[in-house]
Amino acid sequence: MDAVLMSRAGSQAETDIYVNFVDSLFADRRAVVFGLLLQLAIGCFVILESRSMVMTIWPLLFMVSSGLRYVQIRSYARERSHLLELSEQERVAAAQRWERHFTISSAFSALMVGGFAWSAIELIGSEFAIIAGLSTVFAAVPTIVGRLYGSIRLATVMLFCVLGAPAFSLLLKGTMSSFGAFLLFIPYFFLVMAMVRNVRSTVVEAVRGKHINSDLAERFDTALENMSHGLIMFDRSDNIVVMNRAARHLLQIPQFVRIENRRFCVLLRYGRRYEMISSRNMEVLQKAIDSALAHAGDKVELPLSTGRLLEFSANRRPDGGSVLILEDVTERARAETKIRTMAQYDGLTELPNRTFFAAEVERRLSRASDETQCVLIAFDVDDFKRVNDSIGHAQGDALLKAIGKRLRRHYGRRAIISRLGGDEFMMFVDHDADGFPLESFAEGLAACLSRAYRIGPEQVLVTHSIGIDCCSAAEFNLEDAMIRADLALYTAKASGKGVWSVYTHGMGDRYMRRQRLKGDLARAIEERHLTALYQPIVDAETGRIVSCEALARWNHPTLGPIAPTEFISLAEEMGIISSLTRYMLDKALKDCVLWPEHVSVSVNLSAIDFRRENIADLLADSIAVSGIDASRLEVEITESAIISNEADMIERLHRIKRLGVGIALDDFGTGYSSLSYLHRLPLDRVKIDRSFVVGIENGKTPLALLDGITSLCRKLGLAVTVEGVETEAQLDMVRATGKVSRVQGFLFGPGLPASAIAEVANRTRPIAETVSVDEPLPAAVAN
Ligand code: C2E
Ligand code: CA
Ligand code: CA
Repeated sequence: MDAVLMSRAGSQAETDIYVNFVDSLFADRRAVVFGLLLQLAIGCFVILESRSMVMTIWPLLFMVSSGLRYVQIRSYARERSHLLELSEQERVAAAQRWERHFTISSAFSALMVGGFAWSAIELIGSEFAIIAGLSTVFAAVPTIVGRLYGSIRLATVMLFCVLGAPAFSLLLKGTMSSFGAFLLFIPYFFLVMAMVRNVRSTVVEAVRGKHINSDLAERFDTALENMSHGLIMFDRSDNIVVMNRAARHLLQIPQFVRIENRRFCVLLRYGRRYEMISSRNMEVLQKAIDSALAHAGDKVELPLSTGRLLEFSANRRPDGGSVLILEDVTERARAETKIRTMAQYDGLTELPNRTFFAAEVERRLSRASDETQCVLIAFDVDDFKRVNDSIGHAQGDALLKAIGKRLRRHYGRRAIISRLGGDEFMMFVDHDADGFPLESFAEGLAACLSRAYRIGPEQVLVTHSIGIDCCSAAEFNLEDAMIRADLALYTAKASGKGVWSVYTHGMGDRYMRRQRLKGDLARAIEERHLTALYQPIVDAETGRIVSCEALARWNHPTLGPIAPTEFISLAEEMGIISSLTRYMLDKALKDCVLWPEHVSVSVNLSAIDFRRENIADLLADSIAVSGIDASRLEVEITESAIISNEADMIERLHRIKRLGVGIALDDFGTGYSSLSYLHRLPLDRVKIDRSFVVGIENGKTPLALLDGITSLCRKLGLAVTVEGVETEAQLDMVRATGKVSRVQGFLFGPGLPASAIAEVANRTRPIAETVSVDEPLPAAVAN
C-alpha cells in the first residue's frame, strides 16, 4: 500500500472520526430522557429512604442539567443539516464549537452525578444511599467509554467530574477502609482511560481501513473501466460479479442490461437474440470458455457475425471464481493475415510464390496415390522484354497481373499456380492414374493465355511458350520436375513462339550442351576465335562474283564446328549478339577492302541489333575504321527485326540508307512475308529464301511462286537475289524468270575464306566448278 494513500486516508479518517464523533454526542435525545428518568428514580428512592429534604435538590439539578443538554441537542439538530454543506475545515471548526458546548453541559451533568454520589455518601451515609450514589457514578462510566472515546480530553474531564466527588468524599472520611476505597479509584481511572484509548484506536483503524478500501475500490474501478481489454469476473457458481465497459462493448451488451449475478450463458443467449453471436458460435464460445477455464492461460479465438474477431483467455481465481479476459484482435489478425499473404503470395499477381507453391504441391502429393499423374507446367510470355520495352514497365506489370487473373479464373480450382518471378509461371495439376489428356490441356492453356489482354485502352496480344513434365506421384520430385519442365520450355522456345513441348530424355543433353556452349561462346567472341567465310553472290547474267555474304563460323576446340543457327541464337539469348555483329562487320569490311572493287560484301544483322537505337552509328563507325566506300556494304535484315516497333525501325533503316549502305530483306517468303513491307521499308533488295528453289526443277515447288514474288519485287523497284541455287537446272529456271539479278548457292560455292574470294573474284565461271562442295575442302574453308 503506498504512503500517499495511507496518509491521505489517515488524515481524512481522523477528520471523519472527529466530525462523526461530535455528531454522535448529539445523536440520542432519548438517552438523555432515559438517563434523566433513571437519575430521578434513584434520587427519589434515596429521598424516600433517607427522608432528607436536602436530597430533594438533586432531582431538580438532574432536570436542569438534562434540560440543558436536551436544548443543546435540539439546537445542534437544527444546525446539523447546514453543516453538511460546509467545507471540511468549516465542519471541523463547527464540530470544535459544539464539542465545547457539549463539554460544558456534560461536565455540569457529570458534576451533578458526582455531587449526588458525594451527598449520598457524606450526608446520608446509609448503605442504600452509598450504593445508590456509587451506582449512579459507575453507570455513567460505560457512557463515557462508549460515547466519548472520540475525544480523550472530554473523556478525561468527564471521568474526573463523575469520579472526583465520590473519590474525595471517600478520602475525606479518614477511615482506613474509605482510604483503601479511594485508592481503588486511581487504577480504575486509568483502566477506564485505557479502554477509551483502545476503543478509539480500534474505531480509527476501522474507519481508516474503510477509507483505504474505498480508495482502492475507486482506483480499481477506474482501471477496470479504462482498460482496453474486456474483463468479466465470475464467482464460484459462475455468476458474473464484475463486467467492465470494454467487455460490454465487445459483446455488444447495452448498459441497461443488468449483468450482475447472471450466468454467462444468459449473456450468450442475449448475444444470439440480437444476432451478435451465431448459434454455432455460441456453442463454440461456451466450449471455448470451458476449455480456457480448464486449461488456464489458453487462448481461444472467436469470430463474431459483425466481422470482428475476439480472443478469450480465462484464469481460475484462488477462491474458486474465474476471470475472463476478452480482446478484440481483429486488426492484429488482419495484419497477421496480410503478413502471411505477403510471405506466401506474389504481390503483383496474387498467385502463390515459389515457397508456398512448393508447400501446396507437397500437400496435394500427401493425399495422392502412387499412380496419380503429376503434371508440372512451366511457361512464360514470349518476348516479354520486347513487350515491356514497347508498352512500358507499368503496362508490362498490368499484363502479368491480367495473366494471373485469367489463370486463377480458368485453372484456379484444378491447379496450383505460381509466379516464380518476372514472366515465369509454374502450374501443378494432379490427375487420376488413367492418363492425363496432355495435348488437349496444353492446347487449352495456350489458347486461354493467347487471347488478347485489355491493358488500359490497349489490346495486347502475346503468345506463351509452354514446357510440360509429366510423371506418376511415386516418381515425382518437385525440384527435378521443375528442371524438366524448364528444359521442355527451353525446347519449346527454341522451336518458335507460342509452342508447347513435353519433356523427353534428350532435352537434358541438349540443355547441357547449350549451357556449355554459352560459356564458351562469350569467350570465343571476346578472344576473336570466330571466323568469317564468304559465300559468293554472282550476277545472274554474267556469272561474275559481284558480292559475298559474310557467314560466321565457330570451330569449338572440343565439339568441332558449331552451326551458326545454334550459336547465333545463343548469342541473342545471352545478349552478346551485338559484339558478334560488330566483330563480323569489322572483319567483313577489312577483308572487302582487299578485294577487287566490283565485289561488295553482305553482313547479316540480328533483329536484336535493331533494337539498339545506335545501329546506324555502329555501321558508320565500322565503315570509317575500315575506310571502305559505304556503297560496298549491304546489310541483310529479316522481317522479325521490323515488326516489334515499325515506326522506329523504319527510321533506323532510313538512317542506314543515308550512310549509303544497301539494305536487303533476307529469307523473304519464310516469316510473316508481309507484302506491305516491301514498299514501306527503304529496301534495295529482296533475298528470296531457298525454299522457293528447292524442288522447282522437278515441279515439287511451283515455279509460279518464285515467278510471282520476283515480278512483284521488280515492280516495286527492288532488286532480287535468289538463295540456295544448287544445280544448273535450278539456275536455268531462275534465270528464265528474267527478273532475278543475283543468285547465291552451293552451285557458285559455299562460304570461302577471304583470300579465296580475292582469288576467284575476276572469274566469270561458277566457282563451284573450281571449288566443289562435294570435294573435301581445306580445313579453313570447310563450312
Ligand atoms: P542465311 O543468312 O540465310 O545464310 C545462308 C545460309 O544458307 C548459310 O548457312 C549458307 O551456308 C546456306 N546456303 C547457302 N547456299 C546454300 C545452298 O545452295 N543450299 C543449302 N542447303 N544451303 C545453302 P549458314 O552459314 O549455316 O548460316 C545459317 C544462318 O545463320 C544464316 O542464314 C544466317 O541467318 C545466320 N548467320 C550466319 N552468319 C551470321 C552472322 O554473321 N550474323 C548473323 N546475325 N547471322 C548469321
Ligand atoms: Ca543472310
Ligand atoms: Ca538467307
